[in-house]
Amino acid sequence: MKNIRIAIQKSGRLNEDYIRILKECGISIDNGKDQLKASAKNFPMEVFYLRNGDIPQYLIDGVVDIAIIGENVLLEKASNIETTEKLGFSSCRVSLAVPKSFKYKDINDLDGKKIATSYPNTLKNYLIEKGITADLHMINGSVEIAPNIGLADAICDIVSSGSTLFKNNLKEVEVMYKSEAVLAVSPQLDEETRKILDDLKFRIKAVLRGRNSKYILMNAPDNKLQDIIKILPGMRSPTVLPLAEKGWSSVHTVINKDKFWEVINELKNAGAEGILVCPIEKMVL
Ligand code: AMP
Repeated sequence: MKNIRIAIQKSGRLNEDYIRILKECGISIDNGKDQLKASAKNFPMEVFYLRNGDIPQYLIDGVVDIAIIGENVLLEKASNIETTEKLGFSSCRVSLAVPKSFKYKDINDLDGKKIATSYPNTLKNYLIEKGITADLHMINGSVEIAPNIGLADAICDIVSSGSTLFKNNLKEVEVMYKSEAVLAVSPQLDEETRKILDDLKFRIKAVLRGRNSKYILMNAPDNKLQDIIKILPGMRSPTVLPLAEKGWSSVHTVINKDKFWEVINELKNAGAEGILVCPIEKMVL
């Protein structure tokens, strides 16, 4: 049987997240610290550990079939590559930043200025769209020091928490776009490999739904059941089971992990007790 060839970043902060999602999909592979290639033990997959910036070209050439990669890298290197799933991690922004002392009103303030970046294509397209002409300086890494050493008036870089900008006396003034890790697909994918991709996507979806949801259960007096059920933004309809003690029931449902804190007080006020919140490993609809 054929293997699907997946590219992931060789090292760096995202590598662990990538390995983790494959593992949660039931696919076990060796950690690739000193490897270029590894085979999955229990899924028709070969993993190629590559440099992040090289991955888009490998996809275009069909050297790999799919990749887990940041949208920001794809947009910079190969904006026409198909992406099938947003993976919900490695979130960041690609932003413009200027020294704190820069009296910035809007993007027109960057007209005629020097901007340092590792994302020249992305920046060029953005500036064209905004009708701004600027002098672009391509730098590989540590872009944030450029204004401090007099190399540029502004920078365009990846921002996550913003602490790197803060430490370098810079302020974020424009969010050009938001990025996260995605599953990207080679335009050269054949039918047989696409079937393996469909199986992988099915697993990834189940994992992501699980990550985004919580299983909650609580005890409720029977005369409060209707009020409590109304509060629960559940999947379909909650499960209600009688407790050994007469007049009480146990209510079970699945809710979005972000919704839980919004409804907890309402549930308590409506009479729910002993509320348990449990993680969900996988969820198949
Ligand atoms: P922060 O200080 O959290 O804003 O992170 C800033 C630096 O971390 C950036 O300059 C990037 O080099 C790197 N970084 C943050 N998030 C990501 C990401 N999702 N992908 C790649 N690099 C990132």
